[in-house]
Formats: sequence, structure tokens, C-alpha cells
Amino acid sequence: MGCAPGGARFPDPMDHPCLRCGACCAFFRVAFHWSEAEAFMGGVVPVELTEPLDPHRLVMRGTQARRPHCVALHGEVGSTTSCGIYERRPSVCREVQPSWENGVAHAQCERARIGHGLAPLQPADWTLSDSAPVG
Ligand code: SF4
Ligand code: SF4
Repeated sequence: MGCAPGGARFPDPMDHPCLRCGACCAFFRVAFHWSEAEAFMGGVVPVELTEPLDPHRLVMRGTQARRPHCVALHGEVGSTTSCGIYERRPSVCREVQPSWENGVAHAQCERARIGHGLAPLQPADWTLSDSAPVG
């Protein structure tokens, strides 16, 4: 979910595989520098959805649990999901890439999906745009 659903790949953004997944938001500890949640530093992450990790870092609430589940994740993993703070999500979320969207596999995506019993994405998961009409 940290990736960029609606990145214009699909005519209907809801066809984006991440919006039927969400596994990475319920698999990893999501840690980032505290300044990302400080408005006076230009941070935009809602601080009330975070908790301290160490003197330098915060985590998204829920992601330090034995079975992580980000507090901002809506929906059901593997079904229909969305990030409740998509425009304000931390930098680490923005860095996660879904496998094969840009022609390469990504280990984080594959680990998260396998961890939730979902098959890793395949190149064919991105073929819809190839047959979609242009314009
Ligand atoms: S902030 Fe959003 S993108 Fe990041 S882990 Fe939570 S639900 Fe996922
Ligand atoms: S695990 Fe992969 S496909 Fe699933 S939401 Fe994250 S980046 Fe997207």
C-alpha cells in the first residue's frame, strides 16, 4: 500500500494490485525519523498515529506488534485495502514498490505477500494496461 496506486497504469485505479493486497502494511515495522511527524520541520505524518521507537525514530502504531498491522491500514489484507493517510504517509511507505510494476521483482513486496499467504505478483498482473485503449 505504500506504493502509488492510481499511478495511471490502470484505467480504473481500483484494479491496481496494491488495492487488493495491503500485505506490506501488515508485515513490517514502519519506522522513520521523528521530523516526518513534526509540522515545524515540514513533516506531514499524523503524530497521533505514531509512537516512539528510539530517540530518533517513530513508528506507525500497530507495526511493532508481533503481528504488525498499521493503524492507518483500512480494509482486509488480500481483499480490499487502502491507506487512510495516503497523502501523508511516511517516506518508508513511499519507497515500497510492488513487484513487476516497473519490470523488476521487489523483495519487500514478495516477503509481505508470501507472509500473508498471497502469491507473489507476476508480470502478468500488470498486463491490463497493455491492452487498454489509449485516450
Ligand atoms: S501509513 Fe499507510 S502506506 Fe504506510 S504502512 Fe500504514 S497503511 Fe501502509
Ligand atoms: S505487498 Fe506489494 S502488492 Fe501488496 S500492497 Fe505492498 S507493494 Fe503492493
